[in-house]
Amino acid sequence: MAKNWTYKTPGIPDELFIQSDEVPGPTKEEIRVITISKARLNEGNVVVDVGCGTGGLTVEAALQVGAKGKVYAIDEDEAAIKLTNGNLEKFGVRGNVSVTRGKAPEALLSLPMADAFLIGGGGVSLRTILQAAFFKLKPNGRIVINAILLETATVAISELKALGFKDIDITHISVAKGKQINSGTMMMARNPITIVSATKP
Ligand code: SAH
Repeated sequence: MAKNWTYKTPGIPDELFIQSDEVPGPTKEEIRVITISKARLNEGNVVVDVGCGTGGLTVEAALQVGAKGKVYAIDEDEAAIKLTNGNLEKFGVRGNVSVTRGKAPEALLSLPMADAFLIGGGGVSLRTILQAAFFKLKPNGRIVINAILLETATVAISELKALGFKDIDITHISVAKGKQINSGTMMMARNPITIVSATKP
């Protein structure tokens, strides 16, 4: 049972996560909700979070798959591993998550077959990470890539096509949040994110 989030639905407020200036994340609340939805998770699923950062998506995925499921969180950065572990503890989901310091794609090779891959990091290795994810996904498994850069999105689309993924979906999300100022509510734009998702045949 989650200690700090007692709801079935995703969308933990950003400020509930332990955060650090050295580590990116958490992925913003509304982006997390759509990312988890695109991953189409069920209880008992196996999920891999590549580039877990603060652990925002790791925690949300762990809550979805429950005690019978498993999340494998990977990051090359030691500070990200510590922060993710802290957030897993805070939200009471330490038990069904394995956190590993390692670099993708190499760190993916020893993992079991998965129902879904969440990809929030990868940089220049994105193509080979997608190839490794294809290899490790079960049939009908889902892949979701969160791209801040246009180049990341275009590489993801072309590689998913080349690998034979089906139902490739590209969703560009712009969120603005209301901020109270003296004269009323001003909408403040956040960075747009492109979410690329697909199904393994
Ligand atoms: N989704 C996260 C934020 C991800 S930030 C959250 O909600 O908190 C992206 C992370 O990817 C960074 O921490 C970075 O260290 C990691 N990363 C980038 N390339 C990587 C690679 N090739 N292997 C492992 N981790 C990587």
